Amino acid sequence: MSSSQQGAEMHPSRWGDPARAAALPESTRGLIELVFGLDERPVAADPALAPSALGPDLLDGLAALVGGDHVRTDDQTRRLRTRGKSTPDLLRARAGDLSDAPDAVVRPGDHDEVAAVLAFAVEHRLAVVPFGGGTSVTGGLVARRQGFAGVVSLDLVRMKRLLAVDHVSMIATLEPGLRGPEAEALLAAEGLTLGHYPQSWEHATIGGFAATRSSGQSSAGYGRFDSLVVGLRVATPRGPLELGTAPASAAGPDLRQLFLGSEGTLGVITAVTVRVRRLPAVKVYEGWRWPSFGAGTAAMRTLAQSGLLPTVLRLSDESETAVNLADPAAIGGEGATGCLMITGFEGTSAAVEAKRAAVTALLTDLGGTAVGEAAGEKWAHGRFDAPYLRDSLLDLGVLVETLETATFWSNVERAYADVKAALAESLGDPSIVLCHVSHVYETGCSLYFTVAARESADPLAQWGSAKRAASDAIVTAGATITHHHAIGTDHKPWLAQEIGPLGVSVLRAVKADLDPTGILNPGVLVP
Ligand SMILES: Cc1cc2nc3c(=O)[nH]c(=O)nc-3n(C[C@H](O)[C@H](O)[C@H](O)COP(=O)(O)OP(=O)(O)OC[C@H]3O[C@@H](n4cnc5c(N)ncnc54)[C@H](O)[C@@H]3O)c2cc1C
Repeated sequence: MSSSQQGAEMHPSRWGDPARAAALPESTRGLIELVFGLDERPVAADPALAPSALGPDLLDGLAALVGGDHVRTDDQTRRLRTRGKSTPDLLRARAGDLSDAPDAVVRPGDHDEVAAVLAFAVEHRLAVVPFGGGTSVTGGLVARRQGFAGVVSLDLVRMKRLLAVDHVSMIATLEPGLRGPEAEALLAAEGLTLGHYPQSWEHATIGGFAATRSSGQSSAGYGRFDSLVVGLRVATPRGPLELGTAPASAAGPDLRQLFLGSEGTLGVITAVTVRVRRLPAVKVYEGWRWPSFGAGTAAMRTLAQSGLLPTVLRLSDESETAVNLADPAAIGGEGATGCLMITGFEGTSAAVEAKRAAVTALLTDLGGTAVGEAAGEKWAHGRFDAPYLRDSLLDLGVLVETLETATFWSNVERAYADVKAALAESLGDPSIVLCHVSHVYETGCSLYFTVAARESADPLAQWGSAKRAASDAIVTAGATITHHHAIGTDHKPWLAQEIGPLGVSVLRAVKADLDPTGILNPGVLVP
């Protein structure tokens, strides 16, 4: 495994493994200068933190539960557990603002220790923030401090075991602190794979995937994370829950769904049982060119509704295609325009061959042009690199951020146009708005937007306005406020619009029952 796969810590103001941060190539820097101008932005030194609000009695009490080595209050450990990795999170850290740092980082080793920490937190009125990989992009790791004696980051980093494998049923039980590569390595030793590869895969964890209903780049083939979960073990302030005892059940509403997407507000997920697949013998990725985004999305819909989804299926709009493909030859020759689609096939060689042939025939019939495996390999090779590029652009004063939504096929054109227009209008010139279809279903798809703009004097306010405009456009268009990034604190106002007052009331009632003193991630998710 590379060093990031072994679990290098991320700096609060940057993404990923510090050893992999690289300067921009001169040609890219030149392009940035041409479009946005250069305005290098220094990063403030790591600030000293306010002293921990927890006195020796509370710290000793926590140490008695998990061991003295696993209760940390030093500045460096607390800095590394401050907020997540949205661009606003990075901007605040770059400006030297780590004011949301927890008072202590507590690292339980198993379910019982998690339960004991929750009981202690109830007794002493400590807010508890479950912490997986720290890759939240929606403010899911910033708990409200008011009304609490302090804030504890409940770091699940010690809970990294593969607890059980059932090769007959093809299910495996994993602890929540396993990062993506660690979980895959443990499963690979059994000849198995989970197949869940979000762009944050190298750092995000099994518990985080479940708590945010994450979706990976191979979701067309393997399914989104919530669809892979067959069982959950959860520690709540009211006691434990073991959910999921059969492949399917009619035993009332599915309570697993309460905890999938609960973002640490209803309980701490301490084990996740997932559906697994055999390791694929073959992986092939290739590119297709479409004359327009509309033609490409129509082709995706036809594939999905024909039961012919590849493992990977994504489509960049014209702008994203042009920006990502500095080499137009990759999609069909000098001066080529249009949209790049990536298809990927994983499985046994017979299954890959059969599916690929059927998909190729259908896409060709629909007017697509196959552009070969080079474009697919290029995507596969660079699939985890974009967040590093964001840091390099922020260094040059270029604001970069992403947001996403999903809607039914009949509404895709409208949602795409409205969100793109809202972002472009709010950000003004010079800015660019790119989009791709990132996940596909029989009934619809998700749209993933990336923006880049010249940073104003107040980039937080600049992005805040653009994000509000885009979120309003999403909800007005009847799309969802999030397909896979979750709610956190950032999306709460739009969640309330999406589920209505009765929906909010149901969420509050569940929260009040499971977490009567409100210690779990206060201020997150529940409006
Ligand atoms: C560069 C980048 C790319 C990304 N790409 C994708 C993508 O392709 N697809 C996607 O779905 N998301 C993506 N994300 C968002 C993020 O990675 C996901 O939300 C991820 O699932 C979070 O996992 P984590 O382990 O980092 O959780 P954290 O960020 O640590 O926590 C997220 C939330 O879940 C809660 N939580 C964490 N663990 C537990 C637990 N065991 N029990 C209860 N609550 C818990 C936390 O309190 C918090 O509210 C991306 C983020 C970044 C920064």
